[in-house]
Amino acid sequence: MEPKPHLLTDLRTRAAYSEGAGIHRIVPAAVAVPRGVDALQRLVRWAAETGTRLVPRGAGSGMAGGSVGRDVVVDLSQGFRWTAPDWSRRTLWAGASVTWADVTDAARAFGLRLPPDPSSGAFATSGGMVATNAAGPRSVRCGSVRRWVEAIEIIDAAGEARRIVRGEGSGERFVLSPDQRRLVAARFPKTRKNSAGYALNHFADSGDELDLLIGSEGTLAFVTAVEWRLEPIPPDVAGVALGFRTLEQLTEAVPFLVALNPSAVELLDRTLLDCVRPAGVDLPEGLEIESLLLVEFERETQAAARGVVGDAVRGLAASTAHVATAVDRAALERLWAVRRLASPALARLPETQRSLQVVEDGCVPLERLGAYVGGIRAAAERHGIPVAVFGHAGDGHVHVNALPDVTRPGWSDGLGALYRDAVELLLALGGTPSGEHGVGRLRAGLLERFYGPEVAALFRGVKRAYDERSLFNPGVIIPSADWAPLADLKVGPGAASIPDDIAARLREIERTAAWATPKLELARSPDPDSRAPSP
Ligand SMILES: Cc1cc2nc3c(=O)[nH]c(=O)nc-3n(C[C@H](O)[C@H](O)[C@H](O)COP(=O)(O)OP(=O)(O)OC[C@H]3O[C@@H](n4cnc5c(N)ncnc54)[C@H](O)[C@@H]3O)c2cc1C
Repeated sequence: MEPKPHLLTDLRTRAAYSEGAGIHRIVPAAVAVPRGVDALQRLVRWAAETGTRLVPRGAGSGMAGGSVGRDVVVDLSQGFRWTAPDWSRRTLWAGASVTWADVTDAARAFGLRLPPDPSSGAFATSGGMVATNAAGPRSVRCGSVRRWVEAIEIIDAAGEARRIVRGEGSGERFVLSPDQRRLVAARFPKTRKNSAGYALNHFADSGDELDLLIGSEGTLAFVTAVEWRLEPIPPDVAGVALGFRTLEQLTEAVPFLVALNPSAVELLDRTLLDCVRPAGVDLPEGLEIESLLLVEFERETQAAARGVVGDAVRGLAASTAHVATAVDRAALERLWAVRRLASPALARLPETQRSLQVVEDGCVPLERLGAYVGGIRAAAERHGIPVAVFGHAGDGHVHVNALPDVTRPGWSDGLGALYRDAVELLLALGGTPSGEHGVGRLRAGLLERFYGPEVAALFRGVKRAYDERSLFNPGVIIPSADWAPLADLKVGPGAASIPDDIAARLREIERTAAWATPKLELARSPDPDSRAPSP
């Protein structure tokens, strides 16, 4: 029998781990912060012996509620901080706690980088990025992290440590029959990105166990280390900002731009521009546009980068209402300032208008992008919930920040109605509810609607093959019997009670995106009077 591991059960620590970046607040039963593989293995073995359920967690920046839960939250953001590069092979092993920024900083000196570039790279951990199959603006060219993972090290539900390497197959643990492969090919969405459910489509193609584990959101195994494949940083870059007066023009422009092999095609919708203008973001005066695209091209030479910008501008001359080009890195930086200022501008909204990510990750086939943006705007209008729409247009993938006035009666009903309408819209457009954030608790119960009952049964089969007793992250990907997407909100009268000072610190972390803050720091009491619980 494994001795009982060190678990933190005081209210302040549990409260510090009750929230992630999404909409949820759920106070866990306990918290564990293992330092290294041996400690984690002992914890998992003890959990297997006692039937204790575990919630893997990195920085907690995940949006879908996968890193919060009622069971024992296991914080891997601290104890797995090591790197082992092999620059000659252009690879780097990173412990689960190592962030994208750590990897990128180490690689830059050797002219290398990890291509997918999540905007949360300053704090997203290697374990969290693999678990969610994270992506970023550059994914239009380089795909999600899946393509860049050579191998991972895991601890499975029996507490065994294993290394899983690309190209080494899957053993007998889980297999798909030819009929099941056909089913998967028919039922998976035809979108450029997808992080909803186990990636049976990639598994069917590669036969690699790695493809089941990437994007499994902590439901099959703990990831303790990742071997990243790196690429040389392209020498030159140029870009252009393009404004469009109609969503139809936007929809036609995007496939044209994608065919030019850009490194990013990012959308700032009118709804977002309207939010950032009052915050002093510099936009062309008096310009009535429905959407702005920021497009970037990386090339081997400056002439090639400038040349392709010229091709883009000429090709879209008839439909653009605004054009600003950037022919070097400094000019490009200025062009992208508007994108970077968007998040701080949203964070500065009045405290009564909360940004709640409930439909934030929909992805549709490219030719339906305008229909999706238009449909979301209409649903938001119907239900009285302002939204800000932005994101990765080149992948047909946009983020929607719902911005309800939480002092207005009925706001949570409106939010629920927006969620339901967005689901119907995505189903009608052949989309997926998650392009890069994962389904977590927020979308677990939707998978059967998007994939059908037979694929949902295959998902349950994958879970059984790895974690028969559902000890790892119950309720994530495989929905719990009482699944309710907008239960356990961190906002409103139903929010779980936690100490005031911790609630305030968590809010500050959300506003400033300070997810790298070690959560144990929050648990330390600043003064004895601040221990009163708050609703
Ligand atoms: C401001 C902001 C911007 C963002 N931008 C992007 C973006 O551009 N692209 C993008 O893809 N995402 C983005 N995200 C979402 C988030 O940063 C990513 O999902 C990230 O990969 C999560 O990493 P994390 O370490 O915070 O994981 P967590 O949030 O702690 O966990 C996320 C999921 O992974 C599981 N998990 C975490 N670590 C492990 C592990 N070691 N082993 C097994 N399972 C584990 C958890 O159980 C959970 O299900 C953004 C978030 C914020 C707040």
